[in-house]
Amino acid sequence: MAETPTATFTDILAAIKPAKANPKPGKLFINGEFVDARSGKTFATMNPATGEVLTNIAEAGAEDVDLAVKAARAAFEESSPWRKMTPRDRSRMLWKLADLIRANAEELSELETLDTGKPIFESSRFDIPLAAECFEYYAGWPTKITGETIPNTAGGEALVYTLREPIGVCGQIIPWNFPLQMLAWKVAPALACGNTIVLKPAEQTPLTALRFAELTLEAGIPAGVFNVVTGFGPTTGAAMVEHPGIDKIAFTGSVEVGKEIMRTAAKTLKRVSLELGGKSPNLVFADADLDTAAKYALGGIFFNQGEMCTAGSRIFVEEKGYDEFMSVLRGRAAKMVAGDPLHPKTRLGALISAEHLERVMSYVAIGRGEGASVAVGGERIGSRGYFMQPTVLEGVTNSMRVAQEEIFGPVASVIKFADLEEGVREANNSEFGLAAAIWTRDIKKAHRVARSVKAGTVWINTISTTDNAAPFGGYKSSGFGRELGRAAIDLYTETKTVWVDLNG
Ligand code: NAP
Ligand code: MG
Repeated sequence: MAETPTATFTDILAAIKPAKANPKPGKLFINGEFVDARSGKTFATMNPATGEVLTNIAEAGAEDVDLAVKAARAAFEESSPWRKMTPRDRSRMLWKLADLIRANAEELSELETLDTGKPIFESSRFDIPLAAECFEYYAGWPTKITGETIPNTAGGEALVYTLREPIGVCGQIIPWNFPLQMLAWKVAPALACGNTIVLKPAEQTPLTALRFAELTLEAGIPAGVFNVVTGFGPTTGAAMVEHPGIDKIAFTGSVEVGKEIMRTAAKTLKRVSLELGGKSPNLVFADADLDTAAKYALGGIFFNQGEMCTAGSRIFVEEKGYDEFMSVLRGRAAKMVAGDPLHPKTRLGALISAEHLERVMSYVAIGRGEGASVAVGGERIGSRGYFMQPTVLEGVTNSMRVAQEEIFGPVASVIKFADLEEGVREANNSEFGLAAAIWTRDIKKAHRVARSVKAGTVWINTISTTDNAAPFGGYKSSGFGRELGRAAIDLYTETKTVWVDLNG
């Protein structure tokens, strides 16, 4: 057991303002109840802006995962209230969840900022409202998930049709960079399709998932349909991937863990969908509106401290436009200051942990060692919390480690290119293929490059936008399967073909 008493969310938020909520950190959420881990073990979640412990969280072991899977399995029985519920009522519940996220948006934003170190400006304007919108979007789906009738060409008379059925118990494992938003991307479509869920948030950021668990009770989601097991990847997460009672694993995180999950899931032939890392090219042609391109490039790499899978971390600039583009980029990057994430004016917060800060900082040294120069930033800020200056590396070539490896922090690698052919070739010269941006005034060139770039999302004269209706996912090592939009309905359903003989 933890030596320090487990704080409630009320305690965590007390420093800011009296909170209405009374949820239960320090507990797992299994079968509609907050319960201790069987082992009684807990671990701390920290505030990256101060390095201080926020509260203690229950550490789920294999036994707890098993209980959660059993609850989810029972909730998936054909006779269960969840399975007997009409699509219309499922739809209403999803909408209710969206309403509850909105009604508690201020508290959820504060929890997200405390747990991740991201600016409250971002959690209150993006993370939390976008999570609510995701539930609203999928609230429309339960009544629209249909099969097809198939023309019978096999001879004789037959009726052939398909049914779209939920897969069953879905294990969902999410990262720390957009905790509630990543939860929404996975939970909303899975529930829309009628599945049940065991969710594992990242060890660093479990608070909003636990608060969301309370909201599912308020929304009337039947016990066992949604479960949260907090804990560590190699234990809690691995126990989920091993468990024969889980039918599908949906994972967002690193390439390394994604590969490990595929290997383990093969033993039980679980369905797997993976959203992995990126090293997304941001291709700036000399004929673009260079001022706008430079401003957006900053958002593309420094939003969420660069802790974004889609970060435009390789900025390719055509030689002819280099000086003009870079003078805006350097000037603006140098003016960005990190600050208290809870201050409404802060636009750059803290990195997730001391280890991560160290790892990100090490790439500045690696870049220098490879011959790149630090045009802006490159230093840690202060000694309290995990803040780092927005950093721009120039003189980078695409073969350097700082251009090939995902840094997942506020470090942009700027690479010059001579012409379209070279730009596209080097943009594609990467293990990853999550996203790409293209800046040009030439519409033909924009579309030609969009076709040539191997990436799951391509932005033309914009960057970093997503929409709940637009499919999202990766090429190459960035994973497979598409989340959001109609595509996620495929991820969370099985297709059954039914043959009916109509002869004689
Ligand atoms: P990570 O280490 O791969 O962790 C992601 C999740 O997997 C966490 O919940 C983690 O648990 C869990 N996990 C770790 N080892 C596991 C194992 N052996 N079996 C099962 N689960 C395991 O990644 P991260 O450092 O949290 O996140 C950063 C990475 O995520 C980056 O590479 C980034 O590109 C990627 N990402 C991708 C997308 C996308 O949509 N493509 C979105 C966001 C982030 P613990 O945290 O408890 O260890
Ligand atoms: Mg934390």
